Amino acid sequence: MSRPIQVMKFGGTSVGDAARIRSAATIALEAAKQRSVVVVVSAMSGVTNTLIAAAGKASAGDESVAEGLARALHTKHRETIEALISDVEQRRDLLAEIDVLIDRAANYCRGCALLGELSPRALDVIAGTGERLTARITAAVLREMGCQGVAFDATELIVTDEVHGGARPLAGPTRAKTQAALTPLLETGGIPVVTGYIAATVKGIPTTLGRGGSDFSATILGAALDAHEVIIWTDVNGVQTADPRMVPDAVTLDEVSYIEAGELAFFGAKVLHPMTLRPVIESGIPVWIRNSFQPQQTGTKITHSVRPTPQGVKAVTATRDVAMISVAGPGIIGVPDIAARIFGATASVRASIVMISQSSSQDSICFVVQAADATRTEKALRDALYKEVHQHDLEHIKVNRNVAIVAAVGENMCGTPGIAGRVFSTLGKEGINMIAIAQGSSEYNISFLVESGAMEKAVQALHKTFSLSRQTEGAEVASKTA
Ligand code: ADP
Ligand code: ASP
Ligand code: MG
Repeated sequence: MSRPIQVMKFGGTSVGDAARIRSAATIALEAAKQRSVVVVVSAMSGVTNTLIAAAGKASAGDESVAEGLARALHTKHRETIEALISDVEQRRDLLAEIDVLIDRAANYCRGCALLGELSPRALDVIAGTGERLTARITAAVLREMGCQGVAFDATELIVTDEVHGGARPLAGPTRAKTQAALTPLLETGGIPVVTGYIAATVKGIPTTLGRGGSDFSATILGAALDAHEVIIWTDVNGVQTADPRMVPDAVTLDEVSYIEAGELAFFGAKVLHPMTLRPVIESGIPVWIRNSFQPQQTGTKITHSVRPTPQGVKAVTATRDVAMISVAGPGIIGVPDIAARIFGATASVRASIVMISQSSSQDSICFVVQAADATRTEKALRDALYKEVHQHDLEHIKVNRNVAIVAAVGENMCGTPGIAGRVFSTLGKEGINMIAIAQGSSEYNISFLVESGAMEKAVQALHKTFSLSRQTEGAEVASKTA
């Protein structure tokens, strides 16, 4: 009988230098004693940012950027390979392979500089170079350690739609391709090392799954292979009660539900790409978040079930990567199709809407989009509502980027009265103004918009109000008395 499969993903810091890559390979090898292991790797930390910045500068006409990019990537990856691979032939082959990939990325940048243009399709090709490099290096390290490590580009495994920069997987073809490519190697005890973040359309054109998308790659592959579990190895001990960079006394949660983790990711908790849990919810494949720097820690388990938390609120999250768009004016009242036209316009540019609210006077509709979508959303709205603006039925279409969204999340919030009151009185005491509020009917979160300068204070105050730094203790008490 075939062994259970564990898909494990290593994020940018977990493959950030030679020592980290060696330690990732050691973790994979140890796990492979008990089960089949599929490794998914991100680019070395900083590399995707470097690639995206270079592509942007090139398209603005800076021709020299390609040389600089090639030099930086060559240095970083060559040094890593030299520190890790002692076998002369392996090292020579690997260096030749990475040279080709890096030169190709630099050439694409030269093309962008010549054309003075960067299409989303071209950006995806350039941005995904880092993962192709780390997958090859990690597979070679596994071979050095005596295991059959083989690098795979996920462009050959994960099939997506054609939305460059944020593609979504097509489950059927992905399953067929992934199983056909990886099963033979898994059956002989080998370890496939797959690129995170990248994929390809049905026609084979490279796409990416959005920034931070390697988490999503891991669960897509986990679902395609009917994996036993997925482990996301990162640089924190698990999902915490808040971003530890904002709240130093945040604590790690032993377990959270798919819904809770999904809400946290949706409202900006960087520890997970917002789509990560989608592929595994139906089949109930557990996802673990663990610290590759401290593999002895058990981390956070994400599944369907949750233990009750006395506080109702389990974690607080926030992000500044949003913009508020308001459409206001007397023309909004009584025009039955105005909301449909507004959201038709946002849909036409595939803007991701994070929150919607309508003021009580009913003469303004305001909603929050991802910051990256703001400019094209505003343009689409101005085009769609041109007549109303021109006739002064609409007073304005405004974009405010100086905002942050804060959300309190917990599956048991729905059964716990008074949470909204405590949220509002906490913010009142701190003198923080709420620009807009939303609570979904599911009651798994209360989210609100504040000025971006007040974000950290709001998160810290709510973390304190709901005693989240004592959460783990509280949860243990609750489960023992249940
Ligand atoms: P990786 O490179 O491994 O994918 P990321 O930087 O994307 O890692 O995500 C991990 C980071 O997410 C942590 O270092 C932490 O600062 C941040 N983070 C934000 N919110 C949370 C949270 N609620 N729990 C844990 N980490 C969080
Ligand atoms: N390297 C990609 C990024 O930086 C994907 C990832 O790290 O998950 O966005
Ligand atoms: Mg990440």
